[in-house]
Amino acid sequence: MPYASYETVVGLEIHVQLATRSKVFCADDASFGGAPNTHVSAISLAHPGTLPRLNRQAVEYALRLGLALGCQINLRSTFDRKNYFYADLPKGYQITQDKLPICVGGEVRIGPARSIRIHHIHLEEDAGKSLHDQDPLDSLIDLNRAGVPLLEIVSEPDLRSADEVAAYMDAIRRLVRWLGVSDGNMEEGSLRCDVNVSVRKTGDPAFGQRCEIKNINSMRFARRAVEHETTRQIDILEAGGRIVQETRGYDAANGSTYSLREKEDAHDYRYFPEPDLPPVLVEPAELERIQQAMPPLPQALETEFQARYGLPANDAVQLCQDREPALYFREMAAAAGPGLSPRAIANLLIHRLLPWSAETGLGLRDCPVPPERWLAFLQLIESNQLSATTAYQRLFPALLDSPAADPAQLASHLNLLQNADAGFLETLADAVLARFPDKVKEYQAGKKGLLGLFMGELMKASQGKADPKAATQVLEEKLSNVKCKM
Ligand code: ADP
Ligand code: MG
Repeated sequence: MPYASYETVVGLEIHVQLATRSKVFCADDASFGGAPNTHVSAISLAHPGTLPRLNRQAVEYALRLGLALGCQINLRSTFDRKNYFYADLPKGYQITQDKLPICVGGEVRIGPARSIRIHHIHLEEDAGKSLHDQDPLDSLIDLNRAGVPLLEIVSEPDLRSADEVAAYMDAIRRLVRWLGVSDGNMEEGSLRCDVNVSVRKTGDPAFGQRCEIKNINSMRFARRAVEHETTRQIDILEAGGRIVQETRGYDAANGSTYSLREKEDAHDYRYFPEPDLPPVLVEPAELERIQQAMPPLPQALETEFQARYGLPANDAVQLCQDREPALYFREMAAAAGPGLSPRAIANLLIHRLLPWSAETGLGLRDCPVPPERWLAFLQLIESNQLSATTAYQRLFPALLDSPAADPAQLASHLNLLQNADAGFLETLADAVLARFPDKVKEYQAGKKGLLGLFMGELMKASQGKADPKAATQVLEEKLSNVKCKM
């Protein structure tokens, strides 16, 4: 088995499209999906004599992400020109940060004991888009995307498997959405990556020669590209060949990679300082303000929800997929009385409110029933006034229909409240036991499991309104009394 004796080594360059309203060096609309070439002023079109001017919001987003990842922030960073010729790059160069990027270092945690180091994060502009499938003869160009702000997050070659690559991408995607710096939408290209892959014999201290697979726009493709590339490289090495450093593409149709060109070196791009833009300067006070406004981060909340509120790891992870449900849970858990278990709140969110939100397309904060009323709803279950089944099947939809109603009043109005009244329960219990004399004998002979049958019948007869705890007590008492008489 030659494959088992090799290790995969991966480093990622992730491009995140920032959620600014306008482009990074001009006022053109930066949003996705406009009719082709409608978000293009003279600056996006690179007319001679036009000059770039930096969008400060893009800088703030870069700082927010850098702080969240524990990067060192360069209070002075600079732009460079990366020169290449391509039809969707009207200037003939891309403005990027090469020598002095805005953030350096930092790390991304992808497991309890596993972190991936960040090499640096830099600001740059996107190129336009070439459309090869719109016209039978020509490639068409859409320059709406030209000049949209990007952050490129460059990792160290610390990743060791397709699973780790997926976990890393997932962590970055969640964080940029959480911080509000990008919508992280992979289908729309807001998050794309170049995957650098090499292999080496396990235990070998030196890295192997790498290939770079360009422009991957889905988590599944990233996984498959890593897997395919790993096998391809091992096959070459095992056959006595050597890996040539090259740039490859990913073919989604058959999950394989193919050669695009031999790897270009930095000098091929003739990088030089961008003369039209001053350095990016960040005041320590500005950095401090951004740090102060930083929301609690997802991994910290995952830990807090388990340690402080006793949530199972799965629930904590699920709630922390996005910022809104995490903060909503935290607010409810803090407001809940001591009688209410945080797990009940988590269940309401995970199994009811999040599906409601997905179905309606509304955020949790847009739900007409406010959090305090959901707490009152849960309290009815917790205090046994309402069975969980009745609560979720009947009261939940009723509340959404009459969001201003008090849950207890609504439950009473709908005649849903459980009955713990002794007389009511005894009548029911007597009737059930009278119907099953043989089973009563079996129970008394030791078949205690039959209690479930009696309870089931009693609940049915009460139309779900008997308080289960009180009903159990009444049944048990009656069953032992009958025995005394015999
Ligand atoms: P370049 O500037 O030529 O693109 P970098 O040194 O900046 O190269 O690295 C680009 C990416 O490639 C980084 O994410 C880095 O972690 C990754 N990388 C570098 N060497 C290797 C290797 N031997 N195997 C896998 N990935 C690598
Ligand atoms: Mg590169």
